[in-house]
Amino acid sequence: MLAKALDWMFPSKCALCGIVGCPSICDACRDGFRRLDRSINLATTPLDYRVAIFHHELRAAQAVRRLKYSRVTSLASPLADFVKGAYDELGLDEVDAVVPVPIHWTRRTLRGFNQSELLSRALPAEKVHPELLLRTRRTRPQVGLDRSKRQINLLGAFRASDQVAGRSILLVDDVTTSGFTAEHCAQALKDKGASRVGLLTLTGEI
Ligand SMILES: [Zn+2]
Repeated sequence: MLAKALDWMFPSKCALCGIVGCPSICDACRDGFRRLDRSINLATTPLDYRVAIFHHELRAAQAVRRLKYSRVTSLASPLADFVKGAYDELGLDEVDAVVPVPIHWTRRTLRGFNQSELLSRALPAEKVHPELLLRTRRTRPQVGLDRSKRQINLLGAFRASDQVAGRSILLVDDVTTSGFTAEHCAQALKDKGASRVGLLTLTGEI
């Protein structure tokens, strides 16, 4: 009864186009998410492989921005389901641990959540270990910085736990563009002996 009354007063609506009476991502908006279906192997960087589920464009890019900057957390559940779907489909359950890419605690306090942790929420809880990687330094947002400034911005920003030694790690993030953030995470994990590090993101330009 209460749920029905609440639904009448605050009808559910699509968080992307605003149409009422549908889930937080409506079918039309869902159709605007274009699968990337491509992963790359990166033998020359600390990151061993990189997979993005959707092109970072249109509705998919809007979803990333709405979740992160507008804090529309109703998007967390359907987006986490996309991540879980790709994780199963690609056989990534073979990894020893999933580590959401960390944000600095001050940013987390301001935002109220880490979007990467929200996106990891549908993955098996026993696999998800945010405590294995810390962001020890607050960095400027990478957006708007050129390549060399992006690299410098991230130097020494992450510290991994000794617990990662000998384990294969899957990093999860919302979006990847240059891949520098994940590479710096991977370097910190490999410095502590991680055997293999990959990246799964919701959207990307790869
Ligand atoms: Zn919609």
